[in-house]
Amino acid sequence: MSETKKTLTVIGGGLAGCEAAWQAAERGISVKLYEMRPEVSTGAHTGGNLAELVCSNSLGSNLKDRASGVLKEELRLAGSLLVDCAETAAVPAGNALAVDRNIFSSEIEKHILSHPNIQLIREEVRQIPADETIVIASGPLSSPAISDEITRLCGTDNLFFFDAIAPIIEYSSIDLNIAYEASRYSKNPDDTGDYINCPFNQEEYEKFVDALINAQRIPLKSFEEMINSGVSAGKMSFFEGCLPVEVLAARSLQALAFGPMRPVGLIDPRTGKRPWAVLQLRQDNLSGSLYNLVGFQTNLLQKEQERVFRMIPGLENAQFVRYGQMHRNTYICAPGILNASLQMINHPSIFFAGQLCGVEGYMGNIAAGLLAGINAARMINGQDLLVLPEEMVSGALFHYIATAEAKHFQPMKANFGILPPISEKIRSKRERYMKYSERALEKAESFFRETL
Ligand SMILES: Cc1cc2nc3c(=O)[nH]c(=O)nc-3n(C[C@H](O)[C@H](O)[C@H](O)COP(=O)(O)OP(=O)(O)OC[C@H]3O[C@@H](n4cnc5c(N)ncnc54)[C@H](O)[C@@H]3O)c2cc1C
Repeated sequence: MSETKKTLTVIGGGLAGCEAAWQAAERGISVKLYEMRPEVSTGAHTGGNLAELVCSNSLGSNLKDRASGVLKEELRLAGSLLVDCAETAAVPAGNALAVDRNIFSSEIEKHILSHPNIQLIREEVRQIPADETIVIASGPLSSPAISDEITRLCGTDNLFFFDAIAPIIEYSSIDLNIAYEASRYSKNPDDTGDYINCPFNQEEYEKFVDALINAQRIPLKSFEEMINSGVSAGKMSFFEGCLPVEVLAARSLQALAFGPMRPVGLIDPRTGKRPWAVLQLRQDNLSGSLYNLVGFQTNLLQKEQERVFRMIPGLENAQFVRYGQMHRNTYICAPGILNASLQMINHPSIFFAGQLCGVEGYMGNIAAGLLAGINAARMINGQDLLVLPEEMVSGALFHYIATAEAKHFQPMKANFGILPPISEKIRSKRERYMKYSERALEKAESFFRETL
């Protein structure tokens, strides 16, 4: 293949697209990276930053007995640009890797713009170019035009469902005479903790749940019309992992107290007791001036968010800098369309990456970008495509999306349940997870040593 043919088009400058572009460029490929923002907005992103995190600023656990921690380690071993940038932009978050979202984006943009093999083009791609090697990473909010193209290409309807994002408030508006700093299960009395905790007694909790489930929501119809204009209709439902807090609360009175508001390991230093329920606030920017309401993604009207969330002890005067909101989530039905190399079975020069390919979670999306970018480069360079070992968390994810039952397919997040079982019977969950973790990382080390 001549040098001039060594080009790759990447559609979407989000998490997956930036990682894919970087990986291919590092392999000598000349990459055209298309990002439509700020010219065309998605409705959830706020500006033109590459790899903007639209909701939580946490990239999940760093612990080796958690699937997302193992996935992160696999990405480090593979030389992920985005994990590297996340570490540069890290903010305190206990055992998790959370970032200042602006620093994270600008670090990535700096690397992308200075790479001699990457050309960043600020333009909406409305047609998938023929006869080119392409990575499609236009994300859960793919523009209507590209969504229709994807539908045409996949020969099937895209599936749409709804997710929701959580509000962000000003630190200075939190009443620290009520709310207290602590990390869950912290044993160190001097540890001030990485989270701010708003404690509820039973009465406060029950009043709050009642207000929450009876509050006015944004009518689904107008939302649906707003976001689906021009896009083919698809199936609509909530993704279980990202339910609006009011939907979860309506399931049972204790649903929140056993879920996102569970108080375990969060003794209130002023009473020496465990509260009935706790809302946790997580730092959202490096300077610590902003905090997000953990697990409080919502579709309430803005004025209702103010009214109901100010019932939370410690947030009586909360100042909102971003309200929660609902959003569209677009993904293809990967089984039957993609193989585990993230390549289209019927159009081998096209790869999918990110949320669009049916992988859920920031880290999984970055991993998909990494694999799609490497494989697109390998194809252009005349090499065999990589299939990651199933024992790796990333490998298991891509095997899952390629082979799951198409009829009931839903995006999958990194978890140990999709890995091949270990032969030993280990009763302790933690020890079992550590075994999965050790096996995954041994595989990853040897696989990347031999292939990268
Ligand atoms: C509102 C919202 C909240 C979310 N919250 C979380 C969360 O808290 N935690 C989590 O793990 N995941 C969350 N997700 C899922 C999240 O989107 C992904 O984890 C991650 O951002 C997906 O990465 P991606 O690269 O696939 O897509 P994105 O990061 O969205 O990147 C896709 C890019 O493609 C661009 N684009 C779209 N169409 C075109 C086109 N035609 N031409 C050129 N460019 C185009 C978009 O502008 C965007 O920059 C959320 C998603 C949304 C929409």
